[in-house]
Amino acid sequence: MADEYKGILIYIERRRDGAITPVGAELLGKGRELADKLGGELAAAIFGPGAGDAAAELFPMGADKVYVVDHDMLKEFRPRPYAKALAQLAQEVGPAVLLAGATTQGRDLAGAAATYLKTGLTADCVGLEIDDAGVLKQTRVSCGGRVMSEWVTAEARPQFATVRPKIMKPLERDAGRTGETVAFNVNLTADDDVGEVVSFLEATETVNLGEADIIVSGGRGLGNPEGFGVIKELAECLGAAVGASRAAVDAGWIEYASQVGQTGRTVSPKLYIACGISGAVQHLAGMGTADVIIAINKDEEAPIFKIATYGIVGDLYEVVPVLIEEIKNRRS
Ligand SMILES: Cc1cc2nc3c(=O)[nH]c(=O)nc-3n(C[C@H](O)[C@H](O)[C@H](O)COP(=O)(O)OP(=O)(O)OC[C@H]3O[C@@H](n4cnc5c(N)ncnc54)[C@H](O)[C@@H]3O)c2cc1C
Repeated sequence: MADEYKGILIYIERRRDGAITPVGAELLGKGRELADKLGGELAAAIFGPGAGDAAAELFPMGADKVYVVDHDMLKEFRPRPYAKALAQLAQEVGPAVLLAGATTQGRDLAGAAATYLKTGLTADCVGLEIDDAGVLKQTRVSCGGRVMSEWVTAEARPQFATVRPKIMKPLERDAGRTGETVAFNVNLTADDDVGEVVSFLEATETVNLGEADIIVSGGRGLGNPEGFGVIKELAECLGAAVGASRAAVDAGWIEYASQVGQTGRTVSPKLYIACGISGAVQHLAGMGTADVIIAINKDEEAPIFKIATYGIVGDLYEVVPVLIEEIKNRRS
């Protein structure tokens, strides 16, 4: 058990094929800056089979040290054994700051790990800074994207936050950078062997919503499930992912995995095109940090226009085909 808290520890998420997800490099980029300001070490934690081989990839991304955690119960992501393992590692290492991605896995993991660690968790951050007293200032988006709020972890340690993907910038890869790899022996018992992965359904999306630079989303204004045809066509032209409002998902027009918002995915693309979406606060909560928002809506009073960078008042079935044609013309 650590007797003082110092440095930064980052949970590195991996895909089922073992590849490191982009948010790992993003967190290491930010973690490097925080560790340099705090004067501590930047450590990464990587779990599961083959973690030892993957560890070497993390030094060029900025890590000083990589903890490799492998165990029979960590073959696939399951919240209980993963959270217990992360909590044990954090107790041993004693980081001042512990970070994970605000991804589906990261959110599942961090809440449980924070409970084991008896510390707070600031979820879904879009900004992190160390102040002059060495305290982590954690910025979150509140009130459906209208307010940025700053949080600190009162007394408990580590200061634990999840961070939205695509917000932090990875470092330029430095192939010559090396560091120390440490095997960490986790203590898991039969009680931790909870839950079983029965099957795994690959998402049908061609572009991952959480990682997409461009998202084209459709809402109730589409009027019917066939309306997603025109949304998908525009998305294809732009190499974009397809998103949706909850109204469209609840109507059964598209799968839940595409839902953006408070009870769906949180996204931060460079460009978000909202078609036939009114802009309810619960929707804005999931996309309000997009760099550029284009709203297409036939009601000029629709709330989405208040946060849109560009607004087009019109029938999406007239506007979107014109956009598609124009993009195709310019491409050819
Ligand atoms: C606890 C809770 C959680 C929620 N979580 C989410 C969430 O995660 N994500 C989410 O999206 N919502 C969520 N909601 C629901 C949210 O409050 C709204 O009901 C929902 O976002 C509305 O979806 P919409 O904008 O598609 O539909 P509507 O609000 O019905 O808007 C449809 C829009 O389409 C426009 N329109 C109609 N026809 C056309 C056309 N031909 N061309 C152009 N525009 C047209 C209309 O003018 C209107 O503005 C949540 C609600 C609650 C209570």
